[in-house]
Amino acid sequence: MTLRDRIIRLRPPGVPLLFITVGLVTAALTAAPIALILAERRAASETARPDLTDLEEIVPPEPICAAPDLTEIERLTALDSGVSARNWTHIIIHHSGTEAGDYASIDRYHREEKGWSGAGYHFIIGNGTRTGDGELEATARWTAQIIGAHCQASSMNHRSVGICFVGDFEQSSGPSPSQLAAGKKLVRHIVRKFDIPPENILGHGEVPGAQTACPGAHFPLNVLREAAAAER
Ligand SMILES: [Zn+2]
Repeated sequence: MTLRDRIIRLRPPGVPLLFITVGLVTAALTAAPIALILAERRAASETARPDLTDLEEIVPPEPICAAPDLTEIERLTALDSGVSARNWTHIIIHHSGTEAGDYASIDRYHREEKGWSGAGYHFIIGNGTRTGDGELEATARWTAQIIGAHCQASSMNHRSVGICFVGDFEQSSGPSPSQLAAGKKLVRHIVRKFDIPPENILGHGEVPGAQTACPGAHFPLNVLREAAAAER
């Protein structure tokens, strides 16, 4: 059956064939440009609508340091409720002298091998072995503001904050960049809080009377002193 035959069959009685044909041709001629316009509009709206990549460019990602360091370091160094801070005048830097470690392992070692009431330091900065690289742990000695068990020489246990970086910086290289970054943040916070001068940040072995290579020949103590100096 041809198209013409179909039109003739579907044609309502009394309507001339020519009339219907002209109508159909007119409809086709009108519909084509409208379809074209709609297709163009759809294409235009699709290019205008930003995809995910564009959005990322328009809305820049949150800067990593958007929250001031202060909030994070204050949370990490918070004291137990009702405990008041001691009048610390020095900061003593140590290394663990071991490849791996964290608060838990040092705490166990100091209790079981040394017979102390717990980890002798106030802070421990991980190296990615047992805690994250640069992860800061405050010990109970800090949160309860108990004197240290990390440096007897020059009575430093009574007046200094003891910070231990996990690693052996006498044998191998120095602390990792993340450990140093965390150490700088912590030192800056403590010197600001207790008004400690940069020269009172000492390596364990620098304390008069101390007989130790701690925190190792590769530990860049000046990096911490410079960070402290920038706070003043
Ligand atoms: Zn030490």
